[in-house]
Amino acid sequence: MKPNLRQLFFEHVGQTSDFPMGLEVERAEGVWLLGPNGKKWIDLISGVSVSNVGHNNPAVVEAVCSQARDYLHLMVYGEVIQSPQVRYAARIAELLPPRLQSVYFVNSGSEAVEGALKLAKRYTGRTELVSFKNAYHGSTHGSLSVMGGEEYRNSYRPLLPDVQQLRFNRPEDLEQITARTACVIVEPVQGEGGIQLPAPGFLEALRRRCDETGALLIFDEIQTGTGRTGTLYYFQQAGVTPDILCTAKSFGGGMPLGAFISSDGIMSTLKTNPVLGHITTFGGHPVCCAAGLAALEYLLGEGLMQQADAKGARYEQAMRAHPAVKEVRRAGLLMAVEFGDAALCERVVQRAVETGLLTEWFLFWPTALRIAPPLTITDDEIDASCRILLDAIDHAVA
Ligand code: PMP
Repeated sequence: MKPNLRQLFFEHVGQTSDFPMGLEVERAEGVWLLGPNGKKWIDLISGVSVSNVGHNNPAVVEAVCSQARDYLHLMVYGEVIQSPQVRYAARIAELLPPRLQSVYFVNSGSEAVEGALKLAKRYTGRTELVSFKNAYHGSTHGSLSVMGGEEYRNSYRPLLPDVQQLRFNRPEDLEQITARTACVIVEPVQGEGGIQLPAPGFLEALRRRCDETGALLIFDEIQTGTGRTGTLYYFQQAGVTPDILCTAKSFGGGMPLGAFISSDGIMSTLKTNPVLGHITTFGGHPVCCAAGLAALEYLLGEGLMQQADAKGARYEQAMRAHPAVKEVRRAGLLMAVEFGDAALCERVVQRAVETGLLTEWFLFWPTALRIAPPLTITDDEIDASCRILLDAIDHAVA
């Protein structure tokens, strides 16, 4: 008998998880993942905050096809002007403050973090890096070095030297940022740490300390970016502007794309002697930039950012009504439903998947489940997903 897709998946596709669900999905549309035999799931993960404008968004698909017909890839950075890159960079710059006007395109979130760390070392001439416990920044050696989860990091040592990890939301730790610090990298809302919001004043204190010491402040908005928290980037509602902004995930509208964004003054150190401070063959791929730009225009045109908070609040209200829910932490439509119990959370996730909804817990925070659907989700779809979730919680506590 011919092996089925699931068998081949487990046999030949390298796995990194010890609990792969391996759901068979044939098509995806809006918030729906559609499988064989009429199976379907409401997607509350969005590919981890990638599909912000919905799966198979027609505007994005059209942009991809149209750009693919013109050209796919022409040349590594610099030699040829690839117009989708220019148009996307200019559009993003219009929406960002004067400090963030120069966009360096890369392929992924990890690479955006790598580029940002390299840029900060180069610009300041310093080597020490500061990051926060429970932060997730990526899976390459540099990004791993500043990542907070010890168990994911330790088997790859030695990593970058000179990394200090502070406690998130503990202003007293900020004293450890000094004139030797090249940069501080922070997720303004910790994602894989279980949606931890910054305490009032914390980001401001961080900004002040960086200004005092000359360290660059890097915001990793790879998960919080592109409208998910209600503004294009979270820093815009926090009122604290970083020196370097890292973006990826939904930045490519579902295609692989990331960027680190800074001022022209800081960015231009990459072209001072020695030149070619960061090189990438595919970073800013024209098809990905066209997709990202189409997704951005859709996001803006449909007013999705403005709706994120009300949609999040609708979930929050429904979830808080269940006695097993200890807390809901939320920024727009990026949310953690806290049970304070990892085994219970796992049972809820399993039951939800069986009954038509895809969710999961967080990498460094197994006691809460994730709600981060496409921002296009309707009130009816929110209510339908709440019914599945509440039933799954009932089932898991019984
Ligand atoms: N930073 C944050 C905050 C992330 O959530 C992620 C991905 N989960 C990354 C960096 C790494 O992005 P990528 O997987 O595209 O390398």
